[in-house]
Amino acid sequence: MTQQKIPFLDLVTPHVQLKNELMSVLSSAIDKAGYIGGPMVKNFEEEFARFCEVKHCIAVNSGTDALRFAYIAGGINASDEVITVPNTFIATSESISQAGAHIVFVDVDEKTYNLDPAKLKAFLETSCEKDAGSGKTINKKSGRPVTAVVPVHLYGQMADMDAILEIAAQWNLMVFEDACQAHGAEYHSTKLNKWCKAGSMGRATAFSFYPGKNLGALGEGGAITTNDDEIARVCRCLRDHGQAQKYYHDMEGYNGRLDAIQCGFLTVKLKHLPGWTEARRKNAKQYNELLKSVAGVIAPFEPEWSKAVYHLFIVRVNDREAVQKKLGEKGINTGLHYPVPLHLQKAYSHLGHKSGDFPVTEKAAAEILSLPMFPGLTEEQIVAVADELREIAK
Ligand SMILES: *Cc1c(COP(=O)(O)O)cnc(C)c1O
Repeated sequence: MTQQKIPFLDLVTPHVQLKNELMSVLSSAIDKAGYIGGPMVKNFEEEFARFCEVKHCIAVNSGTDALRFAYIAGGINASDEVITVPNTFIATSESISQAGAHIVFVDVDEKTYNLDPAKLKAFLETSCEKDAGSGKTINKKSGRPVTAVVPVHLYGQMADMDAILEIAAQWNLMVFEDACQAHGAEYHSTKLNKWCKAGSMGRATAFSFYPGKNLGALGEGGAITTNDDEIARVCRCLRDHGQAQKYYHDMEGYNGRLDAIQCGFLTVKLKHLPGWTEARRKNAKQYNELLKSVAGVIAPFEPEWSKAVYHLFIVRVNDREAVQKKLGEKGINTGLHYPVPLHLQKAYSHLGHKSGDFPVTEKAAAEILSLPMFPGLTEEQIVAVADELREIAK
């Protein structure tokens, strides 16, 4: 029997522990009136770029803005088509529409829940053709150019980037990573013969610092990382009304800056991220060991080329609603990520999809359950969750 409630995540403890450092960021901002831009922003950008092993980081005010600015700066044009997965948060696709482009969904892999390279290849080979003159990939049905693909490193595990980058190169597609759940995740590239950090492999990458993310601000936040100087320059412009110099506008942009105070907070927290990631990985290992013997519970799959950061710990169960309810009755809080696949959302009814179009995503949406996962989760709590799942399975 669980005695105490087990929360889904804990946003109190880490900030209480760091309260003095966080308060001194606030205090220094107040003393200097340093609210927008300035050294706290620059310092965080440098530290986060170093963390991601990438040349540039541009701090913006959300992961959604990071995606939108990356797409626009990367050269996605209005009327282009951009491929992504239906098993993700709507920000991945919303931002494609906001950049003026059209969304095309390709289904995910059954074991990792991330973009399936084989299905990407099949879509390109059956539904697209290369224009002989321009070399552009054209969707045969719509006649529109397909210019980019957005793998999402969902739940903190990177998509199969070698395979995706190779297919993308063959079809002239830009690759944008949605790493909003994958700060610090790593992928072993056979091609490059090394471990690569999330945010360092694509043309540009979006991160979110929403409070619940592995690296969270004390409010909204996001960032773009890229090795491309021109994309970095345009993203800096886009986040600041298209100005490179005050009141001289090279283009129309957005109010998309990240507050200096949030950058200061994030710099404090970034120092702890490697330790927090280690704790999440240790928790995942414990869960996996305990759940092995529980019938009807499928634990997450980590390929040998992946070091996942377990933003979420997802299991699959048959009677998901009943399991969630029973865990809830024992004080164990769980989540659903995500209950309705994007292609079946009302917002996308105009795309004309129906159930059955992306069977792997639909099956996952019906069966996945996110168990409590955060760095401070204790071994006793993990044992209690596993025991309860074993009890329910009986
Ligand atoms: C959180 C998240 C986003 C959006 O980030 P915000 O900072 O909330 O705008 C985008 N994609 C994925 C996969 C996310 O989890």
